[in-house]
Amino acid sequence: MIRKDVAALKLAPNAPVGWDEARRSLDGLPGGGLNIAWEAVERHARGPKASQVAIRWLPAAGAARPITYRELSEASSRFANLLRARGVRKGDAVFVLCARIPELYFAVLGGLKVGAAVSPLFSAFGPEPIATRVNLGRGKVLVTTEALFQKKVAKIAVPMPTLEHVLRVDSPEFRREFEAASPACEVVRTEPGDTSFLHFTSGTTGSPKGAVHVHGAVVMHCATGRVALDLHEGDVFWCTADPGWVTGTSYGIVTPLVHGVTSIVDEADFDAARWYRILEEERVSVWYTAPTAIRMLMKAGAELAKQHAFPSLRFVASVGEPLNPEAVWWGMDALGMPIHDNWWQTETGGIMIANTAAMDVKPGSMGRPLPGVEAAIAHRRETGIELESRNDTEGELALRAGWPSMFRGYLDQEERYRKCFVDGWYLTGDLAKRDADGYFWFVGRADDVIKSAGHLIGPFEVESVLMEHPAVAEAGVIGKPDPVVGEVVKAFVSLKAGFTAGEDLRMEILGHARKRLGAAVAPKEIAFSTTLPRTRSGKIMRRLLKARELGLPEGDLSTLEEGA
Ligand code: ATP
Ligand code: MG
Repeated sequence: MIRKDVAALKLAPNAPVGWDEARRSLDGLPGGGLNIAWEAVERHARGPKASQVAIRWLPAAGAARPITYRELSEASSRFANLLRARGVRKGDAVFVLCARIPELYFAVLGGLKVGAAVSPLFSAFGPEPIATRVNLGRGKVLVTTEALFQKKVAKIAVPMPTLEHVLRVDSPEFRREFEAASPACEVVRTEPGDTSFLHFTSGTTGSPKGAVHVHGAVVMHCATGRVALDLHEGDVFWCTADPGWVTGTSYGIVTPLVHGVTSIVDEADFDAARWYRILEEERVSVWYTAPTAIRMLMKAGAELAKQHAFPSLRFVASVGEPLNPEAVWWGMDALGMPIHDNWWQTETGGIMIANTAAMDVKPGSMGRPLPGVEAAIAHRRETGIELESRNDTEGELALRAGWPSMFRGYLDQEERYRKCFVDGWYLTGDLAKRDADGYFWFVGRADDVIKSAGHLIGPFEVESVLMEHPAVAEAGVIGKPDPVVGEVVKAFVSLKAGFTAGEDLRMEILGHARKRLGAAVAPKEIAFSTTLPRTRSGKIMRRLLKARELGLPEGDLSTLEEGA
């Protein structure tokens, strides 16, 4: 456990807030109702924060562009007016396919203002995945750029019957129209239960699902920004996720703006030296990133981190995959503070379980349920579910249904949605256990768990132990069918710079794993691999490791990162 000296945190951690309190700190629309764009932008643009920087945009090359709350309000209103002029009304779907450029943020917020269901798409998607998502969400408008239009949209071969308009934000015609549009617009009255976003899952375990979200989620974004991310007045916040994933929207757009802080948006992709420079030069105080990025920084070596100083940095959090204890310790060394793991999924719309600033961090644990969140370990039974009362016992992570940012449906998969809820609980598909202090520990996805000689083995535990070995940069673990024990554990390992794959190293890593895990749980086989297949949101795709190992069909690869 990492005990944190509160005095050393420079600012006292925020007190826990429940949803009612969070609700009270929001405005609501002037005439009644609740709209995310109002809470994120309009109320600040009309108050003392009008000329404060809302988004500090860092282009891939060139000088930073600060965008104030007033500018963000005006630009998103212009966008809203252009959407309205094209007949976009409450409930219509607007898809946004752009790199992390300012227009993406204007389009998303403008879409919310007219009451559209907004769906930001990751710009690296190919033509087919774009079309599938637009069709699933019945997109009426697609917002994109000239380059992405030529490269992707123009190459879509299947019909998109609902699509009426494609807007290219950097075309001269669009620019002219944008400049001529009114910078004011009325925000459509939406209610907490009205659709705000359509988000697609990462496709780690199968075909991506489209989750429907609502404006009421802003209550959760407000509460979690305070408690789980410890946002304070004056913070400079950087969420490294792309808005094409739920993290990049909920926490890369909505949450920092709702809190009226300055949000860093970097157009460029991951680059270790650039990222350290941004943390230092932009004086980032709260940083929200992901294990895949942290592992890449670890791979780049501690020396690079040591060339920088981060006096403004106060709080670092991570989400998306289990955060190996090694990574938490690396944070202590390279950044001078632990990394706070938190857990949630596209379906939950916001952070549910977290190591907060006020808590001691247990490396390897995802933390405790946030105030208002009821989490349990459940077992599916014929007649319903049984909640586990014992500590340290594995089962499916379940959440009491009804939190404000809960998804309200899967696009075109009603039955699947219904099946997620049993006896008033939402079943997450993740396996976990709870300890005596109420901390939750991730075991693995239900689909990834390995059954070997009567044991249930979670890949996370095995991967974390492999990562303790100084040569190992990343590890992905699968179960391989075996006639005797059911499944045996096989590990795929990538090495840090300076290490060479070979029989000696293999035996050394196997020995280390056996010593730490015991022969029953340790991998029987280790394969070296320069990279592991991962989703574009950075998650190791164990299903693909397994399919390739067993020569099975690879399934939906729409979210697979290139070159993997
Ligand atoms: P799909 O549902 O399409 O297979 P996905 O589940 O990866 O994809 P997301 O909703 O982006 O799509 O990811 C949520 C999942 O990521 C969680 O259910 C969990 O398995 C994993 N995850 C997120 N945060 C953590 C964490 N802190 N520790 C462990 N696992 C995490
Ligand atoms: Mg999932």
